[in-house]
Amino acid sequence: MIRSFAADGLKRFASIRCFSSTPDFTKNNYNVQRGGYQSLEEDHIKYFQTLLGENRLVMDLSDLEQYNVDWFKHYRGNSKLVLKPKTTEEVSKILSYCNKNKLAVCPQGGNTGVVGGQVPVFDEIIISMALMNQIESVDEHLGVLVCQSGCILENLDNELEKKGFMMPLDLGAKGSCHIGGNVSTNAGGLRLLRYGNMHGNVLGLEAVKANGEIIDLMSSLKKDNTGFHLKHLFIGSEGTLGVVTKVAIQCAVRPKSINLAFLGLQSFPKVLKTFMQAKQDLGEILSAMEVMDSATMDFVKDKLKVESPIGEYPFYLVIETSGSNDEHDADKLHKFLETTLIKHFALNGTVATEPSKVKEMWQIRERIPDSFVKDDYVFLYDVTLPIPDYFTLVDDVRDHLGSKGKVFGFGHLGDGNLHIQVAVDKYTHEIKDFIEDYMYSRVVELKGSISAEHGIGFAKIKYLEKIKDKNALIFMRQMKRLMDPNGILNPYKLIFEQH
Ligand SMILES: Cc1cc2nc3c(=O)[nH]c(=O)nc-3n(C[C@H](O)[C@H](O)[C@H](O)COP(=O)(O)OP(=O)(O)OC[C@H]3O[C@@H](n4cnc5c(N)ncnc54)[C@H](O)[C@@H]3O)c2cc1C
Repeated sequence: MIRSFAADGLKRFASIRCFSSTPDFTKNNYNVQRGGYQSLEEDHIKYFQTLLGENRLVMDLSDLEQYNVDWFKHYRGNSKLVLKPKTTEEVSKILSYCNKNKLAVCPQGGNTGVVGGQVPVFDEIIISMALMNQIESVDEHLGVLVCQSGCILENLDNELEKKGFMMPLDLGAKGSCHIGGNVSTNAGGLRLLRYGNMHGNVLGLEAVKANGEIIDLMSSLKKDNTGFHLKHLFIGSEGTLGVVTKVAIQCAVRPKSINLAFLGLQSFPKVLKTFMQAKQDLGEILSAMEVMDSATMDFVKDKLKVESPIGEYPFYLVIETSGSNDEHDADKLHKFLETTLIKHFALNGTVATEPSKVKEMWQIRERIPDSFVKDDYVFLYDVTLPIPDYFTLVDDVRDHLGSKGKVFGFGHLGDGNLHIQVAVDKYTHEIKDFIEDYMYSRVVELKGSISAEHGIGFAKIKYLEKIKDKNALIFMRQMKRLMDPNGILNPYKLIFEQH
């Protein structure tokens, strides 16, 4: 039976986080050698003070902590300095100076990255983009947004709403992550199924190379075949090739009608059947298709006191439709839901149509990552798998681990993107290798990818070497050497050579 949604007691995503259990320094936890970079000296600080003014340098140890530790508290750097530029020219002068003096830097956006790319490993200078938060323009005819890269995703979306548009991407971290971080990680999120990834939505960008040179690729045209499409080099390069300072984004028209269905299902084969049915019946109005297993829902319930609105089932699907006509969309959704129930694909479901209820029901899915920072140590994985084998990996990892840990599976089913999390009592290198050596080789066997949307960062560098084509790796290194010969940009991440 399809019921109307009435989930009381859901709490809003808490954007302020406390650093109660700080991790050990990454340099102590992992076997990594500091590169031959200069250490910070008084003269360097004086230069930056003259450039930015004293207020835009962070040097107080307790203030530095929030920049040195990542959101999930897995990594901890030891930077002694955060710089907060406001303009592209200031970024250019910072990088030019650092390059000449061989000072390593770590670009940081909203610090919500999951693979440790945004926090230093040793004492790299952090370049925080937080003050580069100006919107330049919104083209009301074409929906093209031009802004600095430190704008927070949710703020941009709120601005666009006033003009009838929306950001083409949405993720649980939207209240903190920056558009520059999204571009640099090629973030995916909840609506990639409908609007595609950043490679499609970034029309243009401006970036500063390691030597301080500004590259203006700020086209806001949809069609611009004037040579190599250089912007793509910066999309997903995780701050290793340049600092992104400005972007032009193709935004989507804000849908007038949004519905959200929350379904309970018995097995993964039934999830797949429902997925296929949704694609056929909902067609162009399907905008998100998220899945989670009962272990995940139980964990969220336990840690955050958020409950399923329909009772307990082995699997849950969250299906969103967005369109321009309430009646048409409701009719399509209703027919789809009827079919899934008649065919016994789904066992139960509920639909939210009112905006506040839609938002509330989305919170159940969006707050999953929040539950994983509550106490146990949770390893976070993000992989792509061919859809038929999407949950095979969860079952296999569960078998592999036995009683050594609890395994949770959820993710962006519509894109084949699985988040598989493993909770253990305590972090050890042994358990990490035990999980990862098995999991990543299994992902390769299943013909998937070891990173769907989070990137490589610091966390997956060892495995990139193992799975990537050798010539592709050589080409990546050549590119890195060309653009950053001294290796000052985000060392120890993604693609790294000792300097
Ligand atoms: C609750 C939660 C939910 C999430 N959900 C999703 C999701 O659904 N989909 C998804 O893809 N990710 C998700 N993430 C991961 C994260 O939010 C994304 O990777 C996001 O794009 C990171 O943006 P940020 O501004 O926080 O970047 P940061 O974490 O600060 O940085 C990430 C990387 O980009 C580099 N970088 C940042 N800004 C710049 C810049 N201006 N120029 C050059 N390099 C830069 C950093 O050096 C680092 O390597 C989630 C994270 C959390 C905490």
